[in-house]
Amino acid sequence: MTSGEPQTADANAPAPPAAPTPAASAAGTRDPAAPAAPGDGFLTMWRDLAVLGRSAASGGYRRYAWTPADADCRAWFRAQADARGLAYETDRNGNQWAWLGDPAAGGAVVTGSHLDSVPDGGAFDGPLGVVSAFAALDLLRARGARPRRPLGVVNFADEEGARFGLACVGSRLTAGQLDPDAARALTGADGVSLAAAMERAGHDPYAIGPDPERLARIGAFVELHIEQGRALDLAGRPVGVASAIWPHGRWRFDFHGEANHAGTTRLEDRRDPMLTYATTVLAARKKARLAGALATFGKVAVEPNGVNAIASLVRGWLDSRAPDEETLAAVVAAIEQAAAERGARDGVRVSVTRESFTPVVEFAHDLRDRLAALLGPGEPAPVLPTGAGHDAGILSAAVPTAMLFVRNPTGVSHSPAEHAAEDDCAAGVSALADVWEGLACR
Ligand SMILES: [Zn+2]
Repeated sequence: MTSGEPQTADANAPAPPAAPTPAASAAGTRDPAAPAAPGDGFLTMWRDLAVLGRSAASGGYRRYAWTPADADCRAWFRAQADARGLAYETDRNGNQWAWLGDPAAGGAVVTGSHLDSVPDGGAFDGPLGVVSAFAALDLLRARGARPRRPLGVVNFADEEGARFGLACVGSRLTAGQLDPDAARALTGADGVSLAAAMERAGHDPYAIGPDPERLARIGAFVELHIEQGRALDLAGRPVGVASAIWPHGRWRFDFHGEANHAGTTRLEDRRDPMLTYATTVLAARKKARLAGALATFGKVAVEPNGVNAIASLVRGWLDSRAPDEETLAAVVAAIEQAAAERGARDGVRVSVTRESFTPVVEFAHDLRDRLAALLGPGEPAPVLPTGAGHDAGILSAAVPTAMLFVRNPTGVSHSPAEHAAEDDCAAGVSALADVWEGLACR
């Protein structure tokens, strides 16, 4: 979730032959009557979506908010809604909704996720939840289920924050957790503001803001997502239920040293911020490991960034997450202290700025338990926490919310190596249909 290269999205790149998608294994090789098959509808949707915003160079996706690639994905969503005779709408914040039944009736059960990506992201993070939602609706109809409440499918805008640096913009605005002026002023690496990008994409940036009436119509929101870890793989189960999202945040570490000549400055005369930075990276790893937390320096900027110059400034961004807020605070404080101590030895001044913080999210316990029971005749589905933020986490403050995870055997996410097997995708679709049947059709 860093500033990406927003204008490089390549919507026309052909899918390479070994695309890491369920569509890659031809539907024809399966027994069409096999109950685990995700169905032609799923595979067709997956194939149509798989070519949008894919980089030919990396094989990954560059679907940044309000770019042409994003517009292609949004057109795909609209086409899916139209093809099913669902009522389609874009809300004031650019989120897309498809409705079976009148949402004004209230108590709607909504599922969905997002279609945008991180730079060179995988095919599953986000799209799996949206494609599975439409496929689950098809399955529900094939079962002859009769919904007593409105059913909704949603695509939240700008979830990854790859272009403007802030995640979950669409859901944050809707939930009233992001000031519209602050949102409009967000600016990407290309110098284009969110307001300008929205306007270019045909969405009125002055319409954005809280949407409590919309949220009040939702009785439950369930987001299905590829697991971003290997807990389900280790448990030998295709689908699990989320218990909580770890508290997480981003901190900017500025290491101020002194620029000088790499060839003429004696080692003992240097004030080299790169040394302090490197030591801090190692300290972050150690402090996180000792606390059972996570800490990552994944983005760095160097000034003047010359190969024969000692840096004057190194700026590193720390992403840290932990099971509880106390542990997170302690880990970050320990990393700050390690940076300051080393900085004192190196003649480098260290300043730390917290850029964002998201408190722990505990999903609605009764909904979570109900889902786990619904999905596991015999043995309830596994319940697991996650370190990743999601729109479901934002919405949980206003709406009873739950998440389903689909097994990812590589455990890798935010990379083209992200994967889910065809049968597991089918299990996810079937789980979503079960959830809809259990929550909206009885
Ligand atoms: Zn996601």
